[in-house]
Amino acid sequence: MDKIASKHFSALGQQAVKALNNKRFQAQFVATKEEALQAVLDLIKDTDTVGMGGSETMEELCLKYELEKRGNIIYYHQGLAQEESRIVRCKELTADVFLASTNAVTLEGEIINVDGSGNRVAAMSFGPKRVILVVGINKIVQDEEAGRQRIKLQAAPMNATRLSCKTPCVATGICMECNSPERICMITSIMHMAPRGSDFHIIIVGERLGY
Ligand code: SF4
Repeated sequence: MDKIASKHFSALGQQAVKALNNKRFQAQFVATKEEALQAVLDLIKDTDTVGMGGSETMEELCLKYELEKRGNIIYYHQGLAQEESRIVRCKELTADVFLASTNAVTLEGEIINVDGSGNRVAAMSFGPKRVILVVGINKIVQDEEAGRQRIKLQAAPMNATRLSCKTPCVATGICMECNSPERICMITSIMHMAPRGSDFHIIIVGERLGY
């Protein structure tokens, strides 16, 4: 990465961290993916059970592989048949740690997500003892409206493409507010502050990660 981009991403990331900490999240900035991986591992004990939300960011960091190598028990529903997936998603809700990314973080310290089934936003909101989100610099936006636009223009169409959904945005590249049975945008969640009584960590990474 060139020096100007690196300096800008660091400055932007630090602003997001400051805003999130003001909202009682426990946020930190790291410059690289490698540092992000280490920061996540430092927040999880070897004996913790870990639920994972479906996420390109998790894939890019090889987090499932790294945690399994260390001996953690992982609950991860991606790729499972419907009934097994439902059982595993329920386990994700009560794991010691829930690990995911997010669709947008605002410079006002809010976290915005759109979910299909709701298991990811449910686990972020209540259940696991600790929540850890890993967020690439590409997901920082000015405010709630910019977050919604980011989701309609980038996050949702790209995730629909990743999941091979039969939705119009896969062909058009933008949200068409579809009525498809495979629609991935069923629930919008905005976290205005860290949930009461939560142990909520956010790692902002100075590199692009996920969609
Ligand atoms: S509402 Fe439908 S068209 Fe719009 S992003 Fe979601 S899945 Fe795609």
